[in-house]
This record gives sequence, structure tokens and C-alpha cells, in this order.
Amino acid sequence: MTEKLYSQSLYYLDVLCNRIPERSVGSEGNREATHFFEQELSGMGWLTSKAEFDAMDWRDGGAQLMCNGISFEVFAGPYSLPFSGTWQMVTVSDTACLEKADLEDKIVLLHGEIAREQPMPKNFVFYNPDEHRKIIALLEKGCPAAIISATGRNSALAGGVYPFPLIEDGDFDIPSVYMTEEEGMRLLAHAGSTVTLESVSERIPGKGYNVTAVRGPEDTDRIVITAHIDAKKGTAGAIDNATGVIVLLLLADLLHDYEGPRKIELVAFNGEDYFAVPGQMNYIMANHGKFSEMLLNINIDGAGYREGLSAFSPFNLPEDIYRKTTGVITSYPGITEGAQ
Ligand SMILES: [Zn+2]
Repeated sequence: MTEKLYSQSLYYLDVLCNRIPERSVGSEGNREATHFFEQELSGMGWLTSKAEFDAMDWRDGGAQLMCNGISFEVFAGPYSLPFSGTWQMVTVSDTACLEKADLEDKIVLLHGEIAREQPMPKNFVFYNPDEHRKIIALLEKGCPAAIISATGRNSALAGGVYPFPLIEDGDFDIPSVYMTEEEGMRLLAHAGSTVTLESVSERIPGKGYNVTAVRGPEDTDRIVITAHIDAKKGTAGAIDNATGVIVLLLLADLLHDYEGPRKIELVAFNGEDYFAVPGQMNYIMANHGKFSEMLLNINIDGAGYREGLSAFSPFNLPEDIYRKTTGVITSYPGITEGAQ
């Protein structure tokens, strides 16, 4: 049995990460992945359904910046609108400075404190601090022609990539590019000069899908097991989150003849690594007023990390379910209890 599960895992990993080139929301690969997931589960006898939503894809055609005859390395901001133009550059390092700055018809360079962390996307509702909303609102009010951000090495952010895009939001319509802190320091010396910025990118309208599969009796409480199927643009997303989807696929197979007293629902969410989490919002809307039917949700993300243990974090579990889960966890050496 273990060997069968292992070889199935390898097959699924190959399909999700190699044969399908990318699973970012809105991409063709993303639609292929959700189609594959649905086909597999319906083939195992699960009752499947797809929920469709709008999801924009984005094409990166590169960016260039010139100032006083010097070229600077910049990258087009993910999901940004394109830009082409020559404008005077103003520099802003914190919110107080942003409040006072005259940004209209200027290109603004954000550097230092204000560029330390990504403000949350405008329509991301689960966590969005006032300070982030304020920065976005001030930028929209100031209406600069374009934004350049020089971002630091904050490894906790954006998957540890450097430089990271300060703005990653398809709902934000001021064109943006980003650069390293070092390039930002070089460019800062030219504050007040005019800069020529070309950023070639394209927002491509498309669709995305959540896939839901159910088994078991109608009209009972549900056990809902979820994993997001999308991956960050430009990554194969093996650990984030092909492995989570593979757990769902293996579980679907193990439960193909399940006849227990509860309904089991498996959901491939679509949009965790995308600015406005459209799949999760769609699911919340579709289940409005029905969350009390959910006995338990197990969400899987980043399972099977090679260089560390997989953590199982309990949130608001009733005492009996908590005791049962910790009992199971302790019998597997690769799993530990995570943060609550
Ligand atoms: Zn994830």
C-alpha cells in the first residue's frame, strides 16, 4: 500500500510540476491543473463540481529605466499595467513624506522604510492593516504617472526573493516597477531629474476554477479537506502547494469506497498565491450561512517539506478532536504540532 501511494505521489508531482508548466491563477496551466484534479476525482467515483470566477493572467515583457544617460536595472511589477514615458522623479521614504509629496505627473521612487514590506492587495480582506491601506490610498490620491520601488532583503517576504515587488495587485492601476536597494541608492542620487521608464506588460482576462468533490450522505455535517492548487507565478510550486493537492488526490483514492456517516468534501482552492484570493472568496460566498455544517476543516499547505518537519496546527478544535489529532500526529515522526 505504501509503495502504491509513493508511486502515485511521484506521478502526480510530475503532472502538476513538470507536465503542466505553471499553475498561476488565470494561466492555461492553472485551468489544466483544475481539470486534471476534477477528472481524477470523478474517475474515483467522487461527485465533482467546478465553480468559475474571473481571474486575470499577466505577461511580463521586461522593463527599462534611464536617467541622465545611465541605465538602471528594473523589473515590471507583477499584474501591473504597462508604462512608457519620461517624467520628473520624486523620492519618498516614509508615509509622512508620502502625505506631503506632490506626485501628480511625476514618477515616484519609493525607498527605505516605506518599501520595507508589501502593502496587502486592495481587495485582500483577511489581513489588511490600516498602515497598508493608508499607503495605497495616498498613492492613488497622489496619482503619480508610475511607481519605482527599491526593496530590501526581507527574506520573510515574497518567498525570500530579492528584490521583491512592493506592489503585486491587479486591482491597483498605477503602473509600477521594482529594483534592488543598491540600484535604488544609485537612482536616489538623481532625485529631481527626469527619468525615462518603459515597462512592457499585459493584463490578460481569463477564468479560474475551484474544484469541489463530495462523498457520503446528504444532510449531514461535513468534514472539509482543502488545499490550494495554484502556484506563485514563475514557480513550479512543488511544496506550495502541489504536495497539498497530492494529499487530496491520495485521500480521494483511499476513500473511494467510503460509506461512513458524514459527508466528506475535498476542495482544490484556487488563488492563495494571487493578489485577491478569488477562489477562497468564491467559496466563502457560495457557503454563506452554511459554515455551521462544517464539523472540521483540514487545510494542507506546504506538506512534506524536505528540510523540516510538517507541522499540524490546531485552530479552535473541540477537546475530543484535538486529542484524537495529537494522538495521530505523535505516531508519525515526520509530523509535529505547529503554531496555533
Ligand atoms: Zn501556499
